[in-house]
Amino acid sequence: MLAKIHLSAFFIFHSSFFCSVSECINFDDIAYLSSILSNPIEYLKGVGPLRADLLKKELQIFCFGDLLTHFPFRHLDRTTVQPIGQITPQMDHVQVKGILLSMELMGEKRGRRLVAQLRDRTGIIELTWFQGITWVQKAIVVGQEYLVFGKLGFFLGKPQITHPELESTQEANAEGRSFLEPIYNVTEKLKVRGLNGRSIAKLTQQLFLLISEKDIAENLPSDILLKENLMSRWLAYSFIHFPTSTIQKEQAIARLKFEEFFVAQLRLGMLRSARHRFSRGIVFPKVGSFFNDFYHKYLAFPLTGAQKRVLKEIRQDMGSGKQMNRLLQGDVGSGKTIVAFMSMLIAIDNGYQACIMAPTEILAKQHLENFVSMLAPLGVETALLTGSTKAAAKKKLLQGILDGTIQIVIGTHALIEETVQFKNLGLAVIDEQHKFGVAQRAKLWQKSNIPPHVLVMTATPIPRTLAMTAYGDLDYSVIDELPPGRKPIQTVHRLDDARPQVMDFIRTEINLGRQVYFIFPLIEESEKMQYEDLMKGYENVKAWFPEPQFWISMVHGRMTAEQKEVNMQRFVTKETQIMVGTTVIEVGVNVPNASVMVIESAEKFGLSQLHQLRGRVGRGSEKSYCILLSGSKVGREAKDRLSVMCATNDGFKIAEKDLEIRGPGDIQGTRQSGALNFKLANIVDDRGILERAKFYVDNLLQSDPDFIQMENACLKSFLQADQSKTAWGKIS
Ligand code: ADP
Ligand code: MG
Repeated sequence: MLAKIHLSAFFIFHSSFFCSVSECINFDDIAYLSSILSNPIEYLKGVGPLRADLLKKELQIFCFGDLLTHFPFRHLDRTTVQPIGQITPQMDHVQVKGILLSMELMGEKRGRRLVAQLRDRTGIIELTWFQGITWVQKAIVVGQEYLVFGKLGFFLGKPQITHPELESTQEANAEGRSFLEPIYNVTEKLKVRGLNGRSIAKLTQQLFLLISEKDIAENLPSDILLKENLMSRWLAYSFIHFPTSTIQKEQAIARLKFEEFFVAQLRLGMLRSARHRFSRGIVFPKVGSFFNDFYHKYLAFPLTGAQKRVLKEIRQDMGSGKQMNRLLQGDVGSGKTIVAFMSMLIAIDNGYQACIMAPTEILAKQHLENFVSMLAPLGVETALLTGSTKAAAKKKLLQGILDGTIQIVIGTHALIEETVQFKNLGLAVIDEQHKFGVAQRAKLWQKSNIPPHVLVMTATPIPRTLAMTAYGDLDYSVIDELPPGRKPIQTVHRLDDARPQVMDFIRTEINLGRQVYFIFPLIEESEKMQYEDLMKGYENVKAWFPEPQFWISMVHGRMTAEQKEVNMQRFVTKETQIMVGTTVIEVGVNVPNASVMVIESAEKFGLSQLHQLRGRVGRGSEKSYCILLSGSKVGREAKDRLSVMCATNDGFKIAEKDLEIRGPGDIQGTRQSGALNFKLANIVDDRGILERAKFYVDNLLQSDPDFIQMENACLKSFLQADQSKTAWGKIS
């Protein structure tokens, strides 16, 4: 249920960017036949209005289909009967078989209970009932053999089961029952109202009496089933609830996980493929003199192989007549900016405008300076548009953007305001995309009649599997190579009590002419506290590095843009040797002379943030250092993070670790965590399945993008049904 809602939300979000898939791909107009699975849950025998209410409120089970996808979280093995003598306290639930020896009432009032002894050849176990005593007394008979099941307890060293389930062996044999029993999640509220895991199992059994293979039609092509050795959808749904062996259960889960990945990838892939096939894009047929002059005369360094490859990919896209929508990944310092810049020159060469949107004013200004110095000899008109652009200047600027005299615009969020109208925007670059919301980025798309080409750049890489899942609708480029000559940054973790040595080291570096960052954590719950901490930190740093021998800049979120700028500028021009700041400086800032990054309370930062901060040093020719400071009491996870940082400089490796440590949900740079939360599958543990699913999806979209071939008909009708309003899983 949950996964389904997420997926459809994800889908809606995508389709607002592009035409919806059903518009682009011409499905036959088959009406979706309403399925028994969309029946309201109260229609199931044994449910009724009261229980239905509970199921809806507590488990979001609204219809038959929701019950079907309320999977058990585990199974109890009821195929084995435990010899009583071999029971140990480590066991959880046990099933035993024996003769009922005795049964007697004990205790008074509240302590009143019925106690029975069951014996097999190896020992005796005690069975206790506090409730329903009269009923039990009538139902069971001393001297008979019973199959008993329940949660194991120990009392005075002896095994016992309270409120066991109990069945005469004749009955059990008659039912031929010996299987893995499903255990379902229920809430306390449900238990109190008598709807326990077992009742859910009964309801699910009831449901299976009503449905058959045709209600859970296969949605994967048969050749994939065959090659991947997957069981049918119907069997998978049956066996995930009621398997007859552990292997069968695992195979059912594997099949359903594959399906989850496959369908999600297919949806994204269809968007991508629809864009390739049907979208209208601005054509940039030529690479002209702006690009060529720059490349041959002014480019200050040779491009790396990876940069060249990515530029080629972008050029091809922009010449294809289809809209480019490309994600560019590359580690901190890998040189994404120059790639974006040269792509923008291609737009200018073809008579179009280009823009780049950065998440902070500091970064936008830095891009401007960088761009202006590169553009000066080319004679390209460039402008900066940020929140602090003054009204008069802004008016003029907007005019220039509208009439096309300004060819390249660099800006912050201010770029997406409605007043900003381009003459002909051909390429929009979004730097450090994770800092922007989805809606904000979408607005940039809409700045032009024919959507501009879009290049989205990530700050910190995200793992391939994650990129595949979250950005499967985008084309993907990666700069997997750093410019030559970079010295790896040496990272160490030091405890607070090593501060004197750390400060000595920093003094030496400063005396050698280098500059240093001190970063304090951003405490999000309380801006005030963050500010006070920072001030304390600032005073502390100042005590170690007093004026007039040392000068300190400070940048934080409470400053006006001008104050930030002044402070930043003093650091850039080496007037100050130390920069104290919060994560405001996290992204993009480029001061090659800075060689030491000190991160205070480093345990409070996430991995990608640490890596990003570290990326502020190591940009020049000098050897650089990153010092992670923390108290001595650091949690396990934080310790893991710090040791990963000390062990590697590779952003992709760090991203993988981050994914392992934190799970996919809150990785920075993922645009919608819902897209990464599957019901059964997990993109970390099941990445093998994910990759295989992706392989088949890619093949399928290549060979039969309209699902014309017979074997793909099942997919076509599945996607249609799933999109239709009557699909089960809908909240009524
Ligand atoms: P990021 O990918 O983190 O945005 P930048 O684009 O800011 O990295 O590049 C980092 C630094 O590397 C810049 O100073 C840039 O001029 C420099 N640089 C980029 N490409 C190369 C190259 N091929 N050779 C040498 N230096 C390069
Ligand atoms: Mg950058």
